[in-house]
Parts: sequence; C-alpha cells; structure tokens
Amino acid sequence: MSEQTCVIVGASHAGTQLALSLRQGGWDGRIVLAGDEPVKPYQRPPLSKDVLSGAKSQEQIPIRPASILEKAGIELVLGRRVESIDRSRKILYMEDGEALGYDKLALTLGAYPATIPLTGSDKQGVHYLRKLADVQQIRPFVTEGKSAVIVGGGYIGLEAGAVLRQLGMTVTVLEALPRVLQRVTAPAVSRFYERLHGEEGLWVVTSALVTSIEGEDRVERVHCADGTQFDADLVIIAVGVLPNTQLACHAGLEVEDGILVDEFARTSDPDIVAAGDCTRHFNPIYRRRVRLESVQNAMDQAKTAAATLNGNPEPYHALPWFWSDQYDVKLQIAGLSQGYDNIVLRGDPKTGRSFAVFYFRGEQLLAVDAVNRPGEFMVGKKLLLAGATVDKNKLTDESIPVKTFLDVGTL
Ligand SMILES: Cc1cc2nc3c(=O)[nH]c(=O)nc-3n(C[C@H](O)[C@H](O)[C@H](O)COP(=O)(O)OP(=O)(O)OC[C@H]3O[C@@H](n4cnc5c(N)ncnc54)[C@H](O)[C@@H]3O)c2cc1C
Repeated sequence: MSEQTCVIVGASHAGTQLALSLRQGGWDGRIVLAGDEPVKPYQRPPLSKDVLSGAKSQEQIPIRPASILEKAGIELVLGRRVESIDRSRKILYMEDGEALGYDKLALTLGAYPATIPLTGSDKQGVHYLRKLADVQQIRPFVTEGKSAVIVGGGYIGLEAGAVLRQLGMTVTVLEALPRVLQRVTAPAVSRFYERLHGEEGLWVVTSALVTSIEGEDRVERVHCADGTQFDADLVIIAVGVLPNTQLACHAGLEVEDGILVDEFARTSDPDIVAAGDCTRHFNPIYRRRVRLESVQNAMDQAKTAAATLNGNPEPYHALPWFWSDQYDVKLQIAGLSQGYDNIVLRGDPKTGRSFAVFYFRGEQLLAVDAVNRPGEFMVGKKLLLAGATVDKNKLTDESIPVKTFLDVGTL
C-alpha cells in the first residue's frame, strides 16, 4: 500500500463515485471522503419525490451501500466542513481547526440553493430544498387540507408541488417568468406542464413576482408585486442553485460560475481535480463551456477525475441527460436544447400525457424532451451521440416507429 492520500471534499453523488472509481482504478493509498452533512452519502433526486412524500426513508436512498464503501477502504469524515485549502503545503483545514494533509485533492462540492431577498423569508415554515435535513424540516408542515406555496416553477419546485398536491395540500406555484421551465424547455413543454398541474388541481401562476412573506411567527401568506396574496402554511423557495466555489476561490483556483476544469477534470492546480455540480467544463458535443446540475454529470465526470488521479487520463465525452418525475409523468431529457431554432413534435402536448420534442439548430439535432416516451429518449440519445441527421418530416409522423430512425442517417 502506498503512502499517498487522496482527500475528496463533498460526500454526495460525485464524491462517492470518485472514491469508488479511484479504488477500482488501482489507487492503493488512503482515500478520505469528507462531507459536511452528518449522514452517509444519499441520493438527492428522491428528496423532492419519494422522500418528501414519505414513501422512502433516509435508509432507502444510499448512493451505495455502506458495506461497499467499507470494503473499498474509503474513510468517511462526515458532519464537518472543510474550511480552507493551503495548496502550497497541501493541507486542508476543517471547521474545528484540524489539519488534514493530502497528496491529491478532489473537489466535489456541489451546489447550494439561490436565495431571493424577501422580507419574512426567515419565518417558520419557509424552506429551501437541497438537503435531507431540509426535507426533514419540511415534512412536519405537510398536512392534508393546508396550503403550500412554491416559489419557482423549475423542476424541483414543480416536483415538490406535485408531491404536496398528491398529499392533499392546496398548492400554488408562483413563477416570476411568463412560463414554467422557461430556461430549459420549449414553450410547448411549459404549456404541457402548466396544463398537467392544472388537471391535478395545483394552481400555477406565471409572471408572479413574490415581494414578501407574512405571518406572526409562522408563515401565513405570500404577497406578490401586483397586490395578489396567497395563503400559505408552508413555503418552499426553489429558484435555482449556485455552484459551491468559495473554497476553490479562496484557494486561488480558477473559477468562473463553477470551478473551471479541463477535459480530464483537472483544475488549474495539477494536484486538484473537481467534478459534478460545482464545475464548469468544455463539452465537446456542444463545443462550449457548460455547468450542469445532474446526477449523470456528477457520476460520469467523477469517473474521469478518478482516472486522471490514477494516471490514466481519458477525456470526458458524455452526452448530458436528466429526468424529472411529476405525478404519473416521467420526463427524460437527452442533450442540451439551449440555442435551438426549430423543434419537431412527436405526439400532441396539448392533449394526453405522452409526446416528445426534438430540438434542432438548423438541421442539427441538439436535444430531446421525452414525456412518457422512453423509446424516443433512447433513440434521441443514440442519434445525439452519433451526431446523426434525421428526416424531420418523417420524425413527426407517428406511424413510423421511432426505432426506424436508428437505421437511417449516419449511425
Ligand atoms: C431536490 C432535488 C431533486 C433533484 N432531482 C434530480 C433528478 O431528478 N435528476 C437529476 O439528474 N438530478 C437531480 N437533481 C440534481 C442532482 O441531485 C445533483 O446534480 C447532484 O446531487 C450533484 O451531485 P454533486 O455530488 O456534484 O453535488 P451535491 O449533491 O450538491 O453534493 C455536494 C456535497 O458537498 C458538500 N460540501 C460542500 N461544501 C463543502 C465543504 N466545504 N466541506 C465539506 N462538504 C462540503 C455538500 O454539503 C454536499 O453534501 C436534484 C437535486 C435536488 C436538490
């Protein structure tokens, strides 16, 4: 066994994967996985789904069973924040002042919820939704017949709203922009989700600028700029996330809306890699720098980072994908739609709960949003990875099975 120590800061999807891939790839020194949450690494997506609903407990959502981490000899240091990095001496300082030396360092620090300046946001019953501890605080406010207001109509806000609605709460989603999911989907998809939630009895209000939260001790109502107000026993603020870059910034690493990493997940320090939500990297498929917030990116980039630390660098070349569950609707997204100028629909988003949107820039396929359409998702992924061209007129024709498109083009 070598004397080398790798410390990984951030014990979640990226950190856990990095630790395991590092060991599997031959690292025979110490691996320390350090995280500030006081619990073993758990999956984050169920927080706004099965954990919020009560269908799953903390024990049912480990990222990997504890025995696997133990078997791989990964030392967990939990519930303590890493406060600073002294790069010249290769030492980390914990919040209690303890020093921890490293030979190689990995930063998998994730993201934290964006806040909006609102009077009253410190009242009881007002919450963010990022960590298990957040859901544990939210759950006592979930009561049938009571009212919940979700500030923000992005994926997390809509997922949480769907769960609370299914638990019998009166739910209002207040979105500042003219449509939900505006930053990430085409208008057709936004309109579909607004209709879906309406059918389930949840009220979506768009162009709603929240100005204050009121109540004695606990939250009682939410006010908007146009004078409207909404009763609320629970408020969840879900207005996006920001990358955790403070630690890297103070250590003098290059940061630009995310810790900058190259295709091998290396930061500007050759002994430090980074992966997951906290990073910004160049995506060779879209030929631009991106910062992604997804389990896929966290896991795949972590594997790249581990290979780099093991001395077997392989460039990161993965197609981004994501999913969201709301009611009986599974949305699967392949690729990145930003920059599209035309779309092709398979199925009708105005009726029913199953359709797919193919996003193009000119003739180039950029992304696919598949709503209860696993076939379109799978085919879209393959087309995107191959950079294949598709006949748009045929694509819209539902009498042609979607798998047919794998036989044509450049696959
Ligand atoms: C409610 C919710 C639902 C989601 N649903 C989906 C979904 O359906 N599909 C999907 O693909 N993605 C989903 N995501 C996003 C996905 O969970 C993230 O992309 C993923 O967790 C990123 O993993 P990560 O390891 O990079 O960062 P994180 O999971 O954010 O983990 C970073 C960890 O580092 C810790 N940390 C930060 N700073 C320090 C420090 N200084 N010292 C010690 N520890 C530190 C943090 O506390 C955290 O535990 C969801 C996220 C949330 C919050």
